[in-house]
Amino acid sequence: MAHEVERPTYEVMGPIQRYDERDNVFSRESLLPGSSEERGYHANHPELEKIDHRLAKYFFGWAEARSVIAKNAPSEALPESTFRAVSALALPDAVDGPVAVRKVRVAPAEMARNIKAIARYLGAAQVRIGPLNPAWVYTHRGVWPFFSDYRPNPPAFDGVPNGYQGLNYGDPIEIGHRYAISMAFPQDPDLMGSSPSEASTFEIGRVYASGALAAVELANYVRALGYPARAHHLRNYGVLLVPVAVDSGLGELGRCGYLISKELGANFRLACVTADLPLATDKPVDLGIQDFCEKCLKCAKNCPVGAIPTGDKVAVRGVKKWQLDAEKCLLYWGSQGGACAICQLVCPWSKPPTGFHRLIAEIAIRLPAARRLLVEADDWVYGATYKRAPVPSWASERGTGSPRDVGDRKR
Ligand code: SF4
Ligand code: SF4
Repeated sequence: MAHEVERPTYEVMGPIQRYDERDNVFSRESLLPGSSEERGYHANHPELEKIDHRLAKYFFGWAEARSVIAKNAPSEALPESTFRAVSALALPDAVDGPVAVRKVRVAPAEMARNIKAIARYLGAAQVRIGPLNPAWVYTHRGVWPFFSDYRPNPPAFDGVPNGYQGLNYGDPIEIGHRYAISMAFPQDPDLMGSSPSEASTFEIGRVYASGALAAVELANYVRALGYPARAHHLRNYGVLLVPVAVDSGLGELGRCGYLISKELGANFRLACVTADLPLATDKPVDLGIQDFCEKCLKCAKNCPVGAIPTGDKVAVRGVKKWQLDAEKCLLYWGSQGGACAICQLVCPWSKPPTGFHRLIAEIAIRLPAARRLLVEADDWVYGATYKRAPVPSWASERGTGSPRDVGDRKR
């Protein structure tokens, strides 16, 4: 396969230290001030207490606004429609479950082809299979909705599968699966073009929900074949999806912290299934992204709060990478009342998959000398500065619009 290499393009500096999900900003923002989890975490990390309380203010402000049924405008209800569905798919017996006692025997290459075909049928635009590096498994669970205090009205589920780990905040996570099936789900460029807005947040939730459903369905399928499998998606991760996807050859890690794929750029979301069935694996790819990002910096220049570094990579838990200022980024989301995706959208790789753009991507990959010119050309043609597009009328504040507007969405 084109552009495949033996080793991923991130630089390993030494032993990779596994990541505790409790250190993630999304986990820290959802620590209820005064709860035992919050007090316990900040006793060990007093330096983060102040910023985490600022993050929590936004998080719990949103949660309160979400729980109010009456909205001021139809558009305010949009994000609720998609994000809530993902939580139901995060329950222990949705992501994992019993394995069929009889194994279906299929050769690894044939099984990999079959799994990819099913994943695509379930909605993945791209799917690749890599080995699961145990270094990418979280050490401990850190994200709601599994704290008891945070589940006033959980969807019904019928018990925790035998051996399931990672149910509660702080539970250790161990996943011994050999393989990871990484899937990419594209975001609608029109809705995302209004980012940050309720419409783009709605779209992000829609794509995460599609990915979560596909991952849960694919994991069910693998277990029905007689092999262990677990889904990983927005509301229930056991592994770090970006490096796992890099190892599978779905793309490379970019300066903006997102995975950059040749076909989708950065305008997509990931979901994954880890599994232990015989599978042929894909290799990582070298698309020249590391060098391209050195020359580009468009995401860093357009980030409204300077959360993306303009300088060099640094060592993070044993891997050299550009380190995003996640607190700055998330505080900006809070100030906007919704998720920002400007860095995903301005990335020169995030272009519609036309023949022309495919050709440009191929040139960027194969001709390192052309990259600087391509960076400048992207600014000339598409503008150096992000311009927020209007929200389509059906998703606008007034919520008006004809069905034809909805049908016009390109997918
Ligand atoms: S999501 Fe927005 S705020 Fe966060 S890094 Fe990207 S551009 Fe900056
Ligand atoms: S915008 Fe440029 S620097 Fe940022 S991730 Fe994309 S290619 Fe790299």
